[in-house]
Amino acid sequence: MKKVIGAVYPGSFDPITNGHIYIAERAAGLFDELTVSILTNPQKQSTFSVEERKTMAREALCHLPNVKVDSFAGLLVDFLRRQKSRIIVRGLRALSDFEYEFQLAQMNRQLAPEIETLFIVTDARYSYLSSHAVKDIFNFGGPVQDMVPPGVFRRLRERFPRFDGEKV
Ligand code: ADP
Repeated sequence: MKKVIGAVYPGSFDPITNGHIYIAERAAGLFDELTVSILTNPQKQSTFSVEERKTMAREALCHLPNVKVDSFAGLLVDFLRRQKSRIIVRGLRALSDFEYEFQLAQMNRQLAPEIETLFIVTDARYSYLSSHAVKDIFNFGGPVQDMVPPGVFRRLRERFPRFDGEKV
C-alpha cells in the first residue's frame, strides 16, 4: 500500500493572502495531503475569528483538492502528531523572516525531533506581502484587491466599511 505523505502549513492567516495561497499551491504539489491549519491563540488579538479565517481560507483554496483547512489550539507539534504528520511547511519572504522561523523550527525540533520543518521561498510578487500590511493598507484606503482573494477583499470591506479599499 502506498504511504500517504501529509504536511501541515500552520499560521494565523488573519486573513489569508495571495502569498499564503502561493505557498499552499507549491506545497500541495509536493505532498499527497496538505492541512492548512489556523492557530487559535486567545492571547493574540485577531481581526477575524477562527471560523471566519477558516471560511476565507477554504474558499481561497478550493481549487486544490488535496488541501484541507483546519484549526488548532496548543502546541503545533501535538497537532501534527494527532494528524500523523511529520512535516511542517512554512513560507519565507525575506531575510527578516529567517531569524523568527529558524528559532521556531529549532524549538519545534527540540519538542519533537521526528518532525521536520520545510521552507518554501515565496515568489518575488509576494515578498512584501503580509496579512498585517494588507490590513494597514486597506485601513488607509489603499488598493489591496491584487493582494488577497476576492472573498477576503469582500470581508475586509464589510469589516472596515469606512473605506472601500479601491481608493489610492
Ligand atoms: P504567523 O502569524 O504564524 O507569523 P502568518 O499567518 O502570517 O504567520 O503566515 C504563516 C506562514 O506563511 C509563515 O511561514 C509566513 O512566513 C508565511 N507567509 C506569510 N506571508 C507570506 C508571503 N507573502 N509569501 C510567502 N510566505 C508567507
